[in-house]
Amino acid sequence: MATRKPLQLELVPGNAPAQIATRHQFRLEERWIEYTLKRSLRRGSITFTIDEDGLRVGAPWRAPQRRIESLLGAHARWINRKLGEWQERRPPPFTWQAGAIVMALGESLTLTLDPARTVTEREGSCLHVAADVQTAPGTLPVKVVAWLRSTAEDWFEHRAAHYAPALGVPLPAIYLSNAKTRWGTCHPDGRILLNWRLIQMPPDLIDYVVVHELAHLREPNHSRRFWSWVAGVLPDYEQRRRALRRDGHRYLLC
Ligand SMILES: [Zn+2]
Repeated sequence: MATRKPLQLELVPGNAPAQIATRHQFRLEERWIEYTLKRSLRRGSITFTIDEDGLRVGAPWRAPQRRIESLLGAHARWINRKLGEWQERRPPPFTWQAGAIVMALGESLTLTLDPARTVTEREGSCLHVAADVQTAPGTLPVKVVAWLRSTAEDWFEHRAAHYAPALGVPLPAIYLSNAKTRWGTCHPDGRILLNWRLIQMPPDLIDYVVVHELAHLREPNHSRRFWSWVAGVLPDYEQRRRALRRDGHRYLLC
């Protein structure tokens, strides 16, 4: 019987996906850790990053798994320390109830329920929510998000009006977005979409996103010219950009 040569699957770079992500578990110094492994055709070395989702390992397409795991073992101390810091940074589980804390412009607001009110209003560090959770338990998040969105609309317009002249661009139409992974988008037709969740952040981070999107009206790319427009208005933009990357996930609560 003639033996058939087994079919060899060759990954042709042109047809293969540029990268592939898989989840793995690994025992690291007496403790199971989980990580996302991203193999990429473009990557030349193995890298470790701790981002909002935990440990991410970047690896060349063909890097052997045992090589990856021996490197994990060699960096166990760093990884464990960074994972510990990441755990501490993670927001506590959130429950919609009276006394819960929501953020607005970087400040903590305590939710109080006031069914007698007709409008939800902030007073100092309290957000008085016009909601009756006895009769309609779902009204609390709806009212709070509506308040955050309307606060966001006013704030974003006010900040865009402040920065547009400095960038020499006409004041664009600003819309709220509900994206889960993007803070802002600048459309080729000049519309700017800003994520309403940004309103939870401190004003200096919101300003960075507003300026970033406005600067795209000048340069629709991330070229050196683009960043020099941003730097012209916010000389410390790199600090703000880092802070947004580091803390942004905290504001994706609802
Ligand atoms: Zn951009």
